[in-house]
Amino acid sequence: MERRNAWLSYKEADENEMEKLNRAYREFLNKGKTERECVTEIVKQAEAAGYEALEAKISRGDKIQAGDKVYAVGMKKIVALFHVGTEELSKGMSILCAHIDSPRLDIKQNPLYEDTDLAYLDTHYYGGVKKYQWVTLPLAMHGVVVKKDGSVVDISIGEDEDDPVLYITDLLIHLAGKQLQKKAAEVIEGESLDILIGSRPLADLPDDKKKEAVKQNVLKILNEKYGIEEEDFLSAELEIVPAGKARECGLDRSMIAAYGQDDRVCAYTSLAAMLEMNETPKRTGCCLLVDKEEIGSVGATGMQSRFFENSVAELLDGMGCYSELAVRRALRNSSMLSSDVSAGYDPAYSEAFEKKNAAYLGRGIVLNKFTGARGKSGSNDANAEYVARVRKIFDDHDVAFQTAELGKVDFGGGGTIAYIAALYGMEVIDSGVAVLSMHSPWEVTSKADVYEAYKAYKAFLLEA
Ligand SMILES: [Zn+2]
Repeated sequence: MERRNAWLSYKEADENEMEKLNRAYREFLNKGKTERECVTEIVKQAEAAGYEALEAKISRGDKIQAGDKVYAVGMKKIVALFHVGTEELSKGMSILCAHIDSPRLDIKQNPLYEDTDLAYLDTHYYGGVKKYQWVTLPLAMHGVVVKKDGSVVDISIGEDEDDPVLYITDLLIHLAGKQLQKKAAEVIEGESLDILIGSRPLADLPDDKKKEAVKQNVLKILNEKYGIEEEDFLSAELEIVPAGKARECGLDRSMIAAYGQDDRVCAYTSLAAMLEMNETPKRTGCCLLVDKEEIGSVGATGMQSRFFENSVAELLDGMGCYSELAVRRALRNSSMLSSDVSAGYDPAYSEAFEKKNAAYLGRGIVLNKFTGARGKSGSNDANAEYVARVRKIFDDHDVAFQTAELGKVDFGGGGTIAYIAALYGMEVIDSGVAVLSMHSPWEVTSKADVYEAYKAYKAFLLEA
């Protein structure tokens, strides 16, 4: 039952296509370091490929028909693309789903303070992070500040070579005797993940402001550069992420090291497959890229929201065949690849894996019949009939794939979004790309797996 290593099957043409895709993937990672930036880039690419906003079409009163390519966006953080097929929508869709939010540090609403001539921004981490991994790294700030008049200021600091970077300090080894006795979970506490942003005091301040001259200087810079005041932090969404571009990794350049590959590796490859579907499909193709997975798929832009269901209802209405029953049938009759990353087998931590049922770098897209922990708790557990159908599609299209669980039984586990889509009664299976050091500031994937995922998604849209 050992699965083949995809690298060994590549001819020159495959290699060229694989490298081209991985270059485009790295570009996407560089442009999309937050869910908002991802949506902006996705819409840009979709429009270039002939997609049009569903809302615009509806407001013009255009009828939606086979061959149409439309997209819907919710709160700039969740997006669904549809390529309308010739078959009735109530017969179901082929859906590629992934998430575009990643673990990071969010700036608090009242973040700015000064302590002993150093200025900081206070954070609250987002998603599952090992806090000790986030110190002493060059960091960047991305996000928006929305002013009271509704104007939105886009912020991106730390990515250009000439930009300054931000930073979180750690205690020097010489004084860390006590710190090193602590448990890893407590070495750096959540409340200590404060971003160092300044050390230069502003001169000639009135007496009442002299005590926080460094903070005043930071505020002056923010005001000059972005026209924002301290109170504007109240309505800001600012995310601290590792600074720098996605890189090739390994002397053989076989891997990608980058921030946010969970789950933008599945999001990007799903998008690329979707945008390349040129001919009108029989079954409507859909690519759904969601937010908030890392914090439980909550909120208006998470998978638990009605965003997707509402978009399908609008689509049916635009086709002139809306009914409550048609929406339910469209969802129930659909098939989905719910794609999220898998924990790649790591020989350095072999005790966490069961080797027969682990995901390996280079062996292609991973299918997880079930995830979860403690007796499959919370997992989707795809139907065997559906797993059979999916593996036939992959085999027929020469896609390298493997099956895995997330680590050893009762070792831990993790949630995905498959179980939420499954509530509609549709066929869903967890799938995705194996990642080393998942949820760390720099995650590692195999270029071959990125390519095989893309091939798998193309095949799925064609045949599911
Ligand atoms: Zn994920």
